[in-house]
Amino acid sequence: MSCSFDLEHYRELLRSAQEGGYRFAFFDRDPQAGDVLLRHDVDLSLDAAIHLAELEHEEGATATYFLMTGSVFYNLASTEGERALERLRELGHRVGLHAVWPHRHLDERFEPVVAWHNPDPEYMGEPLGEGVANVMEPRFFGPERYRSDSNQHWRSGCPHEALARGEFEWLQLLTHPEIWVYPGATMGETMRALLDAERERRLEQLAEDRIDLS
Ligand SMILES: [Zn+2]
Ligand SMILES: [Zn+2]
Repeated sequence: MSCSFDLEHYRELLRSAQEGGYRFAFFDRDPQAGDVLLRHDVDLSLDAAIHLAELEHEEGATATYFLMTGSVFYNLASTEGERALERLRELGHRVGLHAVWPHRHLDERFEPVVAWHNPDPEYMGEPLGEGVANVMEPRFFGPERYRSDSNQHWRSGCPHEALARGEFEWLQLLTHPEIWVYPGATMGETMRALLDAERERRLEQLAEDRIDLS
């Protein structure tokens, strides 16, 4: 099995977790043995998030999607953003805030859980007070219980084999939907594929906005 960053292998990752006897859990309680906490930081594309969310739903998996309120790449307050929030919940997923320091205002769109975007070490794992979870606080995070696909690179290797063998007591698995949904052997290629798709999407939006594209 090759560990490429594509939807086929994402599906295999989910199946590996199921084969290893894991259950999918949220950030609403301390992790227990046998939990896999699927976490998605949505940095760039709501379309990619929905795509991955649908695949997870097909596989019987549930995840927490962390969405930004001040992204330069998407607008959560637009109709598209509202529809994305609704769709993620319809599919059985939860929505947390992907926050940019120091802003972490949790309005009614979010569960009380925060993941900082590109955090500095000083505040990365700091608890956020009564009733609000930080995904990187010590109870959710340990080097042996955390894997991330940052910049299309697994620092400690793709976890699919270790998941299938049940080697993690529990695992927080952070993945970025864009990396899996758009093709590319490197982050640079994947980002260019995302921009190509974005261009098509923008042309459709212009047409919907009654802009003459002739
Ligand atoms: Zn793999
Ligand atoms: Zn981020």
